[in-house]
Amino acid sequence: MEGKILKFSSLILMATLIVSAVVLGQYSSIHRRELKREQMSGLQMLAYNTRQAKKKEDIRLRHQLRVELPAGIGLQEVEIENDYVKQNIVIRIPDVEKDYFSEHPLLGRSNHINDLYLENGRIELTMDAVYEPQCKVEDGYLYLDFLKPQEIYDKVVVIDAGHGGGAPGAIRQGIMEKNINLAIVQELKALLDENDQNIGVYYTRTGDVNPTFAQRAQLGGKTGANLFISVHSNSTVEGEMSQYHGTEVMYDEQKSEEGCSSKRLAQICLEEATAAMGSKSNGVTYGNSIYIIRNNEVPAALIEVGFMTNQEELDKMASAEYQKKAARGIYNAILRALEEGY
Ligand SMILES: [Zn+2]
Repeated sequence: MEGKILKFSSLILMATLIVSAVVLGQYSSIHRRELKREQMSGLQMLAYNTRQAKKKEDIRLRHQLRVELPAGIGLQEVEIENDYVKQNIVIRIPDVEKDYFSEHPLLGRSNHINDLYLENGRIELTMDAVYEPQCKVEDGYLYLDFLKPQEIYDKVVVIDAGHGGGAPGAIRQGIMEKNINLAIVQELKALLDENDQNIGVYYTRTGDVNPTFAQRAQLGGKTGANLFISVHSNSTVEGEMSQYHGTEVMYDEQKSEEGCSSKRLAQICLEEATAAMGSKSNGVTYGNSIYIIRNNEVPAALIEVGFMTNQEELDKMASAEYQKKAARGIYNAILRALEEGY
């Protein structure tokens, strides 16, 4: 009898142990999964949520990303900002609660997305190159695709206004180089905006900011540009006012001089700029020591419009009239280079 009781109680003990092991195991695996989800990056969440959604319903994603919109929100309310210098795209959806994306997960593919960050109604994407977001709203969903500039434009050009923000460049008589460069680029932008050819133009800056040298130099490659032009104003090495004046254009002397080369682009810029401004030509010069020239993946020229250390040229360069002429010269150079096959 005692033996039977012992057997019976050990059986119960065994059963209890097995049940609790199973329950505990399940609990901890649930817990592990939750922990894992919390630790997932935005891209891992995208892949996870997309897999889960495909298990539940038959969804075919014809577009790269699908964002569920709150009721009453249309395309007009969605804000999309493309900071292409940083390859950052931010999508803002209004009237969204804090944990909106955990209940209405973003679905799709991670192609060309290096990083994805979700917060409240904000989706921040860091892309691996410059893309133009294309969006449409259908049945309460926002669909997003990302096109390369070449898929939209026949030609792509990058314009760099030298210096900016806390980096004024040369300063003479209170005139800052960064402001001359930007004024010329803004005039150039006005001309390019009016141009009816299908040219996509990307600017390293259109305001008083200072992108890094790396951000400037890589924009040519990241947009797959046909050419890159940087606009600067010159000073003598000593920095003292002198008779020395005129326009020169730098290129990377260590790159191939065949076909649509940087040297040929520099020559075109020199000819067109000096013709438009009526300035003295100081020729094309070696520029491999300059970071944005050396590290550019596309044909690149850096134009030194004139000398801030020459009184007459400084006065001209500070005038809107001369800045317009400089812009016209660079504009003509761009069109001529593109005609030549860049
Ligand atoms: Zn400069």
